Amino acid sequence: MSHPPSSTPLPPGAAIGVLGGGQLGRMLALAAARLGFDTVVLTPEADSPAGRVAARTLVAEYEDADALAELAACTGVVTFEFENVPARAVAELQALTARVAPGPLALATAQDRVTEKRFFQAQGIGTAGFCPVDGPADIVAHLERLGAPALLKTRREGYDGKGQTWVEGARDAEAAFDRIGRAPAILEARVAFRRELSVIAARGWSGEIAAYPLTENQHEGGVLRRSIAPAQADAATHAAALKIARTTLERLDYVGVAGIELFETAEGLLVNEFAPRVHNSGHWTLDACEVDQFEQHVRAVAGWSLGPTTPFAAAHMHNLLGEAAEDWAALASDPAARLWLYGKREIEPGRKMGHVTRLSALG
Ligand code: AMP
Repeated sequence: MSHPPSSTPLPPGAAIGVLGGGQLGRMLALAAARLGFDTVVLTPEADSPAGRVAARTLVAEYEDADALAELAACTGVVTFEFENVPARAVAELQALTARVAPGPLALATAQDRVTEKRFFQAQGIGTAGFCPVDGPADIVAHLERLGAPALLKTRREGYDGKGQTWVEGARDAEAAFDRIGRAPAILEARVAFRRELSVIAARGWSGEIAAYPLTENQHEGGVLRRSIAPAQADAATHAAALKIARTTLERLDYVGVAGIELFETAEGLLVNEFAPRVHNSGHWTLDACEVDQFEQHVRAVAGWSLGPTTPFAAAHMHNLLGEAAEDWAALASDPAARLWLYGKREIEPGRKMGHVTRLSALG
């Protein structure tokens, strides 16, 4: 099969395929619709947040060969709102359609915390000290060098603080490994960060790069609670974050929007992790930027020029987790609150149900 070159802009009226059916896919579909694209979502979940606003949903497992073939056949580009898609599915898609963005290298790098840390260190970008862990003996062997307490995380499929536990000392090694389900893991030195920041950046097929200003993020229990943007930071910090983003996107030959989570320390910035997709800490751009991260991602993967990333307002975003979403009526009657609800049918404790952004004048 022959494909148009990836740099040929996808015309309005074409369809964009999205793997994953969550809120990120929903907001991508809304942005795509605004630019005249249809969205086709592939998700195992019937009645998903993204599926309910997409033109079409294929309800199937990510590795379902028929569903992948159908997705490739009816779309001009395929992208992701969820990075833990099996590598086999990504390889299969690449064989079916030239336009898969981001590509398999970026996904594979982000899917395994050890591969991810090694990638950053190979670029000369700092991370927490770490060691791979295949069993409690590895924890005992490296805890002294890394220092206790250290954070044990599953190598794969952890998110929002899931699959993570603190190891208090060598005597806790066995129990800690049990707590994360005895899965292959990484042990990370505890970073004494001043605060957490993130940079949301995009790269197009042509290599063009655009980054939003730094965001300051506050997590509780490993889950993002609120973001403040633009983060107050000196020019050197902004420049260092931009350099990290540029190096990462270029070395991964990345196309689309990515979120890079950073720790600000007394010695400078360290990378915590890299998300090969639009990112929760970029939701503020929906209300404070002319081109938000979702439209930017659609532009990038569709081969359009990237949009401006300069905010016209300062933003404070907070996530509505679990029953906090029951306050929707009060939030809707607050003229200062920009309310986004994800259409999830069931409220569960800690589940991301929506977010609220409040704008103020730029300082
Ligand atoms: P992660 O799932 O890796 O993004 O981790 C979730 C949150 O846990 C981060 O946003 C931090 O607040 C905290 N955290 C993760 N890794 C470390 C570390 N090495 N040292 C201190 N805190 C960490």
